[in-house]
Amino acid sequence: MDKEHTNSHTVTTLPLGGERGGGLHPLHLFRYCPLCGSSQFVENNGKSKRCLDCGFVYYLNPSAATVAVITNERGELLVVRRAKDPARGTLDLPGGFSDCYETSEHGVVREVKEETGLDVDRVEFLFSIPNLYEYSGFTVHTIDMFYRCYVKTGDDIQAHAADDAAEVMWLRPENVNPADFGLKSISKGVERIKALLGETTI
Ligand SMILES: [Zn+2]
Repeated sequence: MDKEHTNSHTVTTLPLGGERGGGLHPLHLFRYCPLCGSSQFVENNGKSKRCLDCGFVYYLNPSAATVAVITNERGELLVVRRAKDPARGTLDLPGGFSDCYETSEHGVVREVKEETGLDVDRVEFLFSIPNLYEYSGFTVHTIDMFYRCYVKTGDDIQAHAADDAAEVMWLRPENVNPADFGLKSISKGVERIKALLGETTI
């Protein structure tokens, strides 16, 4: 793996990856044209459908999501337990889907606040991993962006679980096991960040 260091972040050159799941078109559940209601809403290419009646074309792009990597003064990793499906009850890192009109950086800060109550004052992009997220009977394609998050120090830096997190805990580096993380991209990401554990961002 080639690495080139820049002022603000590390650029990592990776194989393009691009794992393709199954043979189903990503829009196979969308049988009717959302514009005119025609049933002639057919595959246009591997990631889009076209309406043969009105010409409407829809492309499925991955949903942007964020993942926070936070370690405390003892080098322990901040981990949450998932309150909801998919992978309910398994370990996770704080994060979630980006909202429309917000930056990815703001999205990760917002999710950390919502799920743990912690205030992040600086973020640093690490890497991204594509994922498949099963929700409501539909496979959501995501691009999960991992950020190193630096938490504001102060009188009250106690993390507490809220929103999508059932529990928040600090894990010692030796207790961080990628197999305990139910979402595939998070498990892969945890494998990659193990080298960062033992450092502090709080
Ligand atoms: Zn149409």
